[in-house]
Amino acid sequence: MTALAGAARALIIAGSCCLVTVIARQVTGHGISALWETYPSLLPAAALLAVTGAGLARGTWSAARALGQTTAFHRGARARRVPVPARLARAAARAGIPARRLAAVTASAPFALTYGLFRPRILASTALAADLDGAELAAVLAHEREHVRRRDPLKDLIARILPARFFYLPWLAHLQARYAAGRELAADRAALARHPRAALAGALLKVSAPPGWAAAPAAAMSTAALLDARITQLETGTEPPLPRARPAAAAASAAATALTAAAAGWSALVIAHYMPLCAAMLT
Ligand SMILES: [Zn+2]
Repeated sequence: MTALAGAARALIIAGSCCLVTVIARQVTGHGISALWETYPSLLPAAALLAVTGAGLARGTWSAARALGQTTAFHRGARARRVPVPARLARAAARAGIPARRLAAVTASAPFALTYGLFRPRILASTALAADLDGAELAAVLAHEREHVRRRDPLKDLIARILPARFFYLPWLAHLQARYAAGRELAADRAALARHPRAALAGALLKVSAPPGWAAAPAAAMSTAALLDARITQLETGTEPPLPRARPAAAAASAAATALTAAAAGWSALVIAHYMPLCAAMLT
């Protein structure tokens, strides 16, 4: 599978190099009108290259920004880190969370979140350990433990970058929001499987959103936008239906996908037409 993906990537790179060379030669030799006056027309291939280049630039920028936020978060957490309160350590041990997967920071707001792209860990505030009763604390830790088990921080980062990379598919932004909501609801169900509903409900009322320095990379316990869906799930015991994509966004994404596929097919024809030139360039 990896070899197949590698071969496909190599073919796409070689094809893109071929297209860039052909377009550059035609435009420098015959002017910009060569894009639509030659046969096969180079216009769809030029548009595809431009959109792909813009997507790569946006995706790279989004990834750099997300990694910058993650670095700032780690710096903030390090600066505020304190020894894990004994009560929190005992609750974590009962929840089956190894000590190396738990850290505490001093903060007046009760919050817990999961962070760490490759070694996910739970970060809890000292206020969380002080303000929640034993059952609520256990439910919060079970929720965060599920984020750790599913490696949600890394998946969340990838899910946030994809809409920027494929900016011409507005449906992806909706999918990302649905994914984030589904992840929180799944962590709640994992907590509910082991703890009473009242404990999780009590925790939902008491925990607050993380402070600004901790907000960016977190799979946080409390986010206002998701609260309704989480409370509905608590009341009904089943996952509530999540909002559907706006028809306009779905239609625009379908049209963009069809156009991209058509432009890719046409580009393959262009590459086949100019194969001798491309082969000479690559050898
Ligand atoms: Zn969560």
